[in-house]
Amino acid sequence: MYLCFGRIYGPISFGFANRVPQAGRESPGIEFEVFTYYLLNAGACTGYNLLGNKMAEKSTILIVEDEPKIRSALRDFLEFKGFAAFEATDGIEAQKQVSQRKVDLILLDLMLPEISGEQLCKQWRKQGLQTPIIMVTAKGQEKEKIAGLNLGADDYITKPFSLEELLARIEAVLRRTDPARAVGTVFRFGDLDVDVPALKVRRGQEDTDISKREGEIIQFFAANPNRVVSREELYERIWQDTMTDLGTRTIDMHIAKLRAKIERDLSEPQIIKTVRGAGYKYEA
Ligand code: CA
Repeated sequence: MYLCFGRIYGPISFGFANRVPQAGRESPGIEFEVFTYYLLNAGACTGYNLLGNKMAEKSTILIVEDEPKIRSALRDFLEFKGFAAFEATDGIEAQKQVSQRKVDLILLDLMLPEISGEQLCKQWRKQGLQTPIIMVTAKGQEKEKIAGLNLGADDYITKPFSLEELLARIEAVLRRTDPARAVGTVFRFGDLDVDVPALKVRRGQEDTDISKREGEIIQFFAANPNRVVSREELYERIWQDTMTDLGTRTIDMHIAKLRAKIERDLSEPQIIKTVRGAGYKYEA
């Protein structure tokens, strides 16, 4: 068995191992970890891994850092840990990336040329961007740290840090800020309690069953509050397919069925609102 996988995946896993920043540290377990990672992610293009389980969508992390070595080491590490990672060398590039793609978390260096991390954070929050931000500060920037948290950063980490500590913080922030990742928990959506594992929504004493798809839609809106979501985006993210006319009808039908279960007044939905000509919006 091992030989078989070794033959197929050996050279690829070795390539991964070389890219992982492990400077000055022997890590005998790394090849096994890489092998397991690859085994579980080998079907990334199909959305299924080799065990036949549907894979969760990768969380996207934007690394804003002006030092190339740190930036690429962070990217390699995060990709190795299963995230989709993108880089920005300065504030301008970071703003461009944030406006052009889905970003689940921003790793923001404080000391950047042109626009500082502090200013960026302030601007983003002023614009209503809710993406979680972890500030990266250098030792002795205690004052900036506190200022960063006041400006709307979700957490901070001080250089030099270990990659494991960074990973723990990223996961904690994502769990806290993205209900879709908090599997096994009940979360609040509008005035409902949503129990995704049980596929139930609860208002007061009243339980209503929802379908798996409806659960996914709720999770998606809960993770993207106060922003207009187009039917295209919804279809691509949840059905993982390209939008067609049939897709539009599918979305509208699912939203209508979901609203019948969650809204108090169907003539005036308060949880998932229609934005004419643009899509839907969940107002948290
Ligand atoms: Ca820097």
